Amino acid sequence: MLNIVLFGPPGAGKGTQSTKLIEKYNLIHLSTGDIFRANIKGETELGKMAKSYMDQGKLVPDSLTIDMLQDEADKHPDAKGYIFDGFPRTNAQAKALDDFLATKNSAITMMLALEVTEDELRTRLAERAKTSGRPDDADPQIIQKRIDVYNAETMPVKGYYEAQNKYRGVQGVGDINDIFISLCNEVDLKN
Ligand code: AMP
Repeated sequence: MLNIVLFGPPGAGKGTQSTKLIEKYNLIHLSTGDIFRANIKGETELGKMAKSYMDQGKLVPDSLTIDMLQDEADKHPDAKGYIFDGFPRTNAQAKALDDFLATKNSAITMMLALEVTEDELRTRLAERAKTSGRPDDADPQIIQKRIDVYNAETMPVKGYYEAQNKYRGVQGVGDINDIFISLCNEVDLKN
């Protein structure tokens, strides 16, 4: 299996690049943010719980997130591989993902990281707010909170994969297709 963790701060372009990667490599896209938003729209219990955290720019608790991710992955037993987008965001989630994949005799192939400066992120998120309809994009204070949470809680996940020699960083600024080619080059070295 080809299992990719697509990593990067909010606004780095993970959604855009995921769409292109799943098509090229025939992978299942699992975006925890998208799944939470679908649950909020469907007014499920999970959605109600997640919303209170998301609206504040905080992380949804690990237990909720991990259970949900595993349920979603299990819906695709014949998958050739997955792109995990927006997950794992804590070391506890990364460990849980390793354990989960091990039960399927599988593992994370690599973490692909989109590297983008904070100034660029703030500009992109403010621009995205005009069309995304996401309340967490609309408020500069919530955007800052999400960036701060990323730096404090999610950045350590980079070290988790570096320790396994699975971290690959790619410059996330510039032409979308050039960034895609850089990502594919990293995948093809491992694939
Ligand atoms: P995203 O669409 O990836 O930017 O995620 C939007 C929001 O969903 C985040 O700010 C968190 O509140 C929540 N969320 C998404 N993925 C996770 C995760 N792996 N762990 C905890 N919270 C998450």
